[in-house]
Amino acid sequence: MRSKIAIVGAGLGGLATALRLSHLGHDVTVFEKTDQVGGRNRRVTVNDCEFDGGPTLLMMLDPFRKLFSDVGERLEECLQLQLCDPSYRVFYSGGERLDGTTDVDRMISQMVELGAGDDADRYPHLLRDLRDLYQDAIPNFVEKNFYSPLDFFGPRQLGLVAKHGMLSNMAKRIARYVKDPRLQMLFTFQAMYLGLSPFDAPWVYATLTYMEYGEGIWYPKGGIVEIARVIAQLAEARGATIRLEAPVASFEGGQVRLVSGEVLSFDAVVCGADLPYAQRELEGQSHGRKLKYSCSTTMFYLDYEGSLPDLLHHNVFFGSDFNKNLNQIFHQLDIPDDPAFYAAVSARSDSGRAPDGHENLYVLVPCPNLERPWTEADTKAIEDKVFGRLHREVGFEQANLRGIQRFTPSDWRDTLNLDRGAAFGISHHFLQSAYFRPANYSKAHPGVYYVGASTAPGNGMPMVLISADLAVQRMARDGRI
Ligand SMILES: Cc1cc2nc3c(=O)[nH]c(=O)nc-3n(C[C@H](O)[C@H](O)[C@H](O)COP(=O)(O)OP(=O)(O)OC[C@H]3O[C@@H](n4cnc5c(N)ncnc54)[C@H](O)[C@@H]3O)c2cc1C
Repeated sequence: MRSKIAIVGAGLGGLATALRLSHLGHDVTVFEKTDQVGGRNRRVTVNDCEFDGGPTLLMMLDPFRKLFSDVGERLEECLQLQLCDPSYRVFYSGGERLDGTTDVDRMISQMVELGAGDDADRYPHLLRDLRDLYQDAIPNFVEKNFYSPLDFFGPRQLGLVAKHGMLSNMAKRIARYVKDPRLQMLFTFQAMYLGLSPFDAPWVYATLTYMEYGEGIWYPKGGIVEIARVIAQLAEARGATIRLEAPVASFEGGQVRLVSGEVLSFDAVVCGADLPYAQRELEGQSHGRKLKYSCSTTMFYLDYEGSLPDLLHHNVFFGSDFNKNLNQIFHQLDIPDDPAFYAAVSARSDSGRAPDGHENLYVLVPCPNLERPWTEADTKAIEDKVFGRLHREVGFEQANLRGIQRFTPSDWRDTLNLDRGAAFGISHHFLQSAYFRPANYSKAHPGVYYVGASTAPGNGMPMVLISADLAVQRMARDGRI
């Protein structure tokens, strides 16, 4: 059976679905609002510097390997991968530095140097527990559709939740293993990748800590943007059509209406545009419960003339009071006084991404979403704080900036249709996780499916690739393909 399938959005979720379906021989058309594929995984250029617009950390390679092997390809042949070791450099507000790495001995010796010898002794135990958690959580709660409540509430699943205390608090659990507040930050800030405070996150999300410290961070030559480009290319090679600058206005059943007025008919629609927006604006449905959203980010893409040798490819800067920083972002909805942020210079691993004598400096600052109105003064306040810290820590000089592009919470909303500018989609608190996350199919309109960060299993490139796998499995079970 050859089905005609529309895919809304050429983010990684939509593209991975397009690749899977076109490989199965279906007639696939992708409609993308913007002028490029990738969505949040989009390419940004400032003068001759090239940037990954959103994701920069490639972790958890298994879902990538599975996507490529399911379509008869090999990940390592399609993308030239290298391990980033160290993974990243951490700058603490007291002036200490630590280079995160999967090398256990190097981690231990750095912890001892920080004066946290007791924590260093417990580190192998922490890693072991994180690995066990990861190995149980991913196949049982992430890589599966929950076709019935029993798939989630069955004795095996409940046993695993109890065994690992998956729902206990991430920040409190880490404090059992490491007492030094700097290390507590180091092993919990990964919850921020989901746009979630570690003080509000369940322990199951320590799987992210394991991905970093157990498996490591990878980089594909040409940038993270290569992932979207290659998946799109493989889908097109199998007959998929990708239409850029073709925003969808609505879909109902198999009918897709473009903003241009064009109406087309399909056997099924897979929507990769972010779910809360798409359900409301495109499907004409309300989700039926009040969703909570992740935080947002303010981005700076900088063409910097000169060199900043203290920066590695990936860098994390912690402010003086992490708890206060998180409270300001998630609960008070304020601009943080002393923000933690992430900075990357991908040209360290890939010199072609910046011209000689320049750094392609990417800065991501977690900030409140648009539950508070955003102003230019907010962007400026963040910029001043971040540039000041970079000046003090690594000798950054504003006078050396040759170009700057800013991207704010309002831009996430207006460019990519992310409700409330929530850069990571809906939040991952317990009642929006696993079985409780909005389903990957429409109950109101049979034949409509969802992929991407705000449906199951969740946010992050590996999760979004898994979402495509799960949606295709569900379509097959429903007899749509
Ligand atoms: C700043 C930032 C940093 C991140 N860092 C990492 C990281 O280091 N590692 C990691 O694994 N993940 C990271 N993530 C998360 C990761 O980027 C996302 O989970 C993933 O890219 C989401 O893909 P998606 O397909 O769900 O959505 P999107 O990428 O948002 O794709 C949706 C697409 O739908 C299109 N669209 C919307 N409305 C319409 C319409 N009406 N008609 C047609 N098209 C439409 C949009 O233009 C977009 O192209 C990061 C995210 C952000 C924002």
